[in-house]
Amino acid sequence: MSGNSWKIHKFGGSSLADAQCFERVGDILGAMSNARIGVVVSAMGGMTNELLYLSSLAEQNDRDYLSALADVGTRYAETAKTLVSPDLLVCLLDQWARDSEDIQDILRAIAQVKSAPRRSRDIVAGYGEIWSARLLAAHLQQKLGNDRAGRWIDAREVITVRQGDLGATVLWDVSRKKMALALTEDFQGIAVFTGFIAVDDGGLQTTLGRNGSDYSAAIFSALVDANELDIWTDVDGVMSADPRRVPDAQVIHSLSFDEAMELAYFGAKVIHPQTLGPAVDNDISVVIRNTFQPDHPGSRIGAVTSDAQQIKGITAVGNMALVNIEGSGMIGVPGTADRLFAALRDAGVSVTLISQASSEHSICIAVPSELAERAATVIAATFEEELSGGQIQGVDVSDGQSIIAVVGDGMAGTPGVARAGINIRAIAQGSSERNISVVVDSDDVTRALRAVHSGFYLSAKTISVGLIGVGVVGSAFLDQVRDQIERLRSEFNLDIRIRAIARSRKMLLGERFRRLA
Ligand code: ASP
Ligand code: MG
Repeated sequence: MSGNSWKIHKFGGSSLADAQCFERVGDILGAMSNARIGVVVSAMGGMTNELLYLSSLAEQNDRDYLSALADVGTRYAETAKTLVSPDLLVCLLDQWARDSEDIQDILRAIAQVKSAPRRSRDIVAGYGEIWSARLLAAHLQQKLGNDRAGRWIDAREVITVRQGDLGATVLWDVSRKKMALALTEDFQGIAVFTGFIAVDDGGLQTTLGRNGSDYSAAIFSALVDANELDIWTDVDGVMSADPRRVPDAQVIHSLSFDEAMELAYFGAKVIHPQTLGPAVDNDISVVIRNTFQPDHPGSRIGAVTSDAQQIKGITAVGNMALVNIEGSGMIGVPGTADRLFAALRDAGVSVTLISQASSEHSICIAVPSELAERAATVIAATFEEELSGGQIQGVDVSDGQSIIAVVGDGMAGTPGVARAGINIRAIAQGSSERNISVVVDSDDVTRALRAVHSGFYLSAKTISVGLIGVGVVGSAFLDQVRDQIERLRSEFNLDIRIRAIARSRKMLLGERFRRLA
């Protein structure tokens, strides 16, 4: 079965930024032996922005849209030139010229009414993915031959969605039927699919929203019943913390869907929770990989994680405010929290974190800073009586806070994890028990992240070794260290460094902090 099953690979804009990038992607795909490969592509890096800009220029009736469109064409032609033979190039550029006519028609209409309806903007913005797909398919056909590659499929012929307040919902039955028409059951080889674009239930073009190509890839993976989706990007994988803040941050090799979603919710750049939906529902593993480092194993996200480490990652969200409601009169009064959250919900304030002291003497909520005033006003109005009667002493807001979320499945039921030795303003454990969030002053956030990161042993522990005598035992030991060093680091989080080797007359001192491997 697995020999014939599909594997989907998605390449984002940074992996397809220029001709050299397309070559690299071609090499990566060329080295794969799976019988059936689907490749979902984004527009070339920056292209979607350029296309959206055309619509805004036209909206201002600014004729510059014509020269801006010509620049887009030049970029495409320059890229294509080195990737395909002259006859394929002529075809691609002819198609581009026809697309450009259509785009100009739309832009002219926008310019006339000085406003760009969503549909028109979507149509213009969606060309980036079409051009990438055509170009990559042509390049692969030339590189790998007609039998293996060359097909590209316009997602508008397959992915059918209904747009709602929360974005696009896939109409699976319709999409599945269309998929069967687009690619026959016995298809073998590499097929390229456009990301980002789709049609709605009225048959009109739409998009899956900015950065929607990951979602497209998950949808296609579900439609072809793939067993794995690889998302190729420009980083090695999901990091245990933001490396700009925590230099010791490491790639998380394996994490569960739940952990990935929890990290994404708290702002880690993992993968959008919506994107994971079709993967979770169909139990398709998602692997985040680096196009520029294809040998790196990346991060594997699946239903279960092979790595039982308690804590997987730490992330921080800034621009938060704490709103604290204090009053001895709240003790034992049922329904206080219900009234509070109903009032906040009616006022459209979404609460990111809730923490109630076990004495029930205070309730503390964290909300985005820009909503803090509104939250405080609503709370004061709701509890007006209690405030004037003295059962509630006050509602105060402290701004400039950050939430640090510590995430890991293994935390469930493990007591004592909520200790990290930093000045914590509020603390909450998610009901899933796979996340503990603490609120700290934004000035402390980097220090706190580092402390938590090393406190939970996410940073490797370094063991310095000095060796006296390099006889049989000593040199066997050195061989073992050399052979096991990677494993010790990845599995046991131990970083062994030989700092000195001494024999009777001589001593060799290692460069400071030089790693053996
Ligand atoms: N090209 C689209 C965007 O820039 C979709 C994507 O790349 O995921 O938003
Ligand atoms: Mg992306």
